[in-house]
Amino acid sequence: MTFDTPNGLQLLHTPGPTHLPAPVLQALITQPTDLEHPQLAELVARCEAGLKQVFATERAEVFSYMANGHGAWEAALANLVPPGGKVLVAGSGYFAEVWGLYAEEMGVSVVRTPTREGLPLDPAAVEAALRADTAHDITAVFAVHTDTASGLTSDIPAVRAAIDAAGHPALLVVDVIASLGATRFRMDDWGVNVALAASQKALMLPAGLAFVAADDKALAVARTNPTPRAYWAWERRRSELLYRKFCGTTPHNLLNALAASLTLILGEGLDAVFARHARVARAVHAAVDAWSQGGVLSFNGSVPATRAASVTAICVADGFEPNDIRRIARERFHVSVAGGLGPRGHRMFRIGHLGDVDTAAILGCLGGLEATFRTLSLPVGEGAMPAAIAALGSR
Ligand SMILES: *Cc1c(COP(=O)(O)O)cnc(C)c1O
Repeated sequence: MTFDTPNGLQLLHTPGPTHLPAPVLQALITQPTDLEHPQLAELVARCEAGLKQVFATERAEVFSYMANGHGAWEAALANLVPPGGKVLVAGSGYFAEVWGLYAEEMGVSVVRTPTREGLPLDPAAVEAALRADTAHDITAVFAVHTDTASGLTSDIPAVRAAIDAAGHPALLVVDVIASLGATRFRMDDWGVNVALAASQKALMLPAGLAFVAADDKALAVARTNPTPRAYWAWERRRSELLYRKFCGTTPHNLLNALAASLTLILGEGLDAVFARHARVARAVHAAVDAWSQGGVLSFNGSVPATRAASVTAICVADGFEPNDIRRIARERFHVSVAGGLGPRGHRMFRIGHLGDVDTAAILGCLGGLEATFRTLSLPVGEGAMPAAIAALGSR
């Protein structure tokens, strides 16, 4: 692999991992203390309080695992679903699909609502599937807020409304891994029982921490659920003793970094963070709109209002190779974007615009992509950069 400069700025625009801001990098390289040091307990308490603010919950308890998002999925399954139990997975794309496959691997049977290409999950299908479950065998509805594969954000309050309309007692478990800290999410107000997040997305941390917020209803279900579990068990982790809370050594450096990230997010203010993501997303969407006029690139999402604030999935017409776009963008223009996922993933690439993104970063990313398309003689419409700049100026 040859880079035209070995040391220049490299822009990371994947939907995880994401760019690490300087205060987070600095927080990572501090010395850990001994495990009984009062500073460590204070750090953990600060992180938990900050996470609750970001989840917008007062009632839930937050559990932090040394894991990635897949670990958070397993934590929800192991704590909530009895052996041979059943969950409903609301089809929204590849991430919902894989979560369902994980459930099946754990011996759980899965009812799926259909994934609709280019559209988010369908709350009406969730309601119908719950009405059909007259025996109330379904323990939980699993929904992905922003499906990172499709680049679309689903309406979570509508899922809660669907569960209530069906008169079904299922818990609502939401994967906010790609949306927490990028898109408005209000756990308590939206009637979400369990929310799952991971460190390496809009929380601007390296991979390595997974977060599960569980409310009293979810904790009560877990208490009587006989599924064998040790590391994931919420009951075991409900302790002030750090070696119990973390099932072993506390990840001091990652928590230091989390505290730094929470200080940045809460210092900016959640509303301002969401507005910044929306503004940056508008710039990306404006550029993709302009590029699409060339007839080769197109949005995956057919309804503009459902396009995510954190990631954009772009389809590439046959005859052009998405991996060439990614390779040239990375090697020549130092911009990393992600490949596609799922059945049509080989025809897509994805721009991550979450976490530590602002005007300079997104213009660098879009400019690098524009240069990549020119290099590949890929037919794209004119005016993407002026459109993006105009969108950044809009409120
Ligand atoms: C990234 C992601 C995951 C998986 O997280 P990992 O940390 O890679 O295990 C799950 N769900 C969504 C919506 C994601 O964006």
